[in-house]
Amino acid sequence: MGKVYLTGAGPGDIELLTVKALRVVREADVIIYDRLANPEILKEAKDGCEFVYVGKEDSHHILPQEQINEVIYQNALKYDNVVRLKGGDPFVFGRGGEEGIYLRERNIEFEFIPGITSAIAVPEYAGIPVTHRGVTVSFRVVTGHESSGKDHSQIPWQNYKTDDTIIFLMGLHRLEIISKKLIEIGKARDYPVAVISRGTTKDEQTVVGTLDTIWELAKNLPTPALIVVGKVVHLREQLSWFKK
Ligand code: SAH
Repeated sequence: MGKVYLTGAGPGDIELLTVKALRVVREADVIIYDRLANPEILKEAKDGCEFVYVGKEDSHHILPQEQINEVIYQNALKYDNVVRLKGGDPFVFGRGGEEGIYLRERNIEFEFIPGITSAIAVPEYAGIPVTHRGVTVSFRVVTGHESSGKDHSQIPWQNYKTDDTIIFLMGLHRLEIISKKLIEIGKARDYPVAVISRGTTKDEQTVVGTLDTIWELAKNLPTPALIVVGKVVHLREQLSWFKK
């Protein structure tokens, strides 16, 4: 039985892969990878390495998670070194925990290899610090995926009332609802918001607006994209640096 490396691939820029992740990619017999993992990384694999694509389009999985778990398990029965390569960090809305539990229940050895999460690195490439002395004392990372007007929305909006910086992943298609909810709980209409599309890559685009305007301004941006809400967005005026 092999060992599985549940590995973060970073947010896009291939140079944001960790040294450890690069090592296991080079040693892998099979790499099971997501849509969000930069495919350039696969070029680092050794000759004869197998590639299995289990892409995820935000929440629209090509394979349901249960099936992905099973694919990883089956590969661990077949190969010594199995790399499960995931966008960003495996534990930040990456379902890495579920994959680990599935493997543990089947006595498959595994390691987690943290990755640089898009939640922090994508704003950083756009010149937006998630914390800044005198501006924010906290940041919150939220899934935008559930934040619809659905009756069973699990997002506790009231808790966000006093948050300085809020980062929404998987939220672009719900941007209008998110903006309106934040206004509803008392955030000012002119509260700053940035949407960053395809961050850390040559296709990066950043659109800046307010809770009132952003959903019109950013609605046609391509995914993956994340949303940063908070006064830190203004720091981009002094900190933007990334040249594509
Ligand atoms: N585990 C990943 C997040 C998975 S959820 C991580 O730690 O980064 C997928 C969401 O991440 C996307 O819907 C988007 O909101 C965000 N995302 C991932 N890569 C991104 C990128 N290069 N640019 C902008 N947003 C990105």
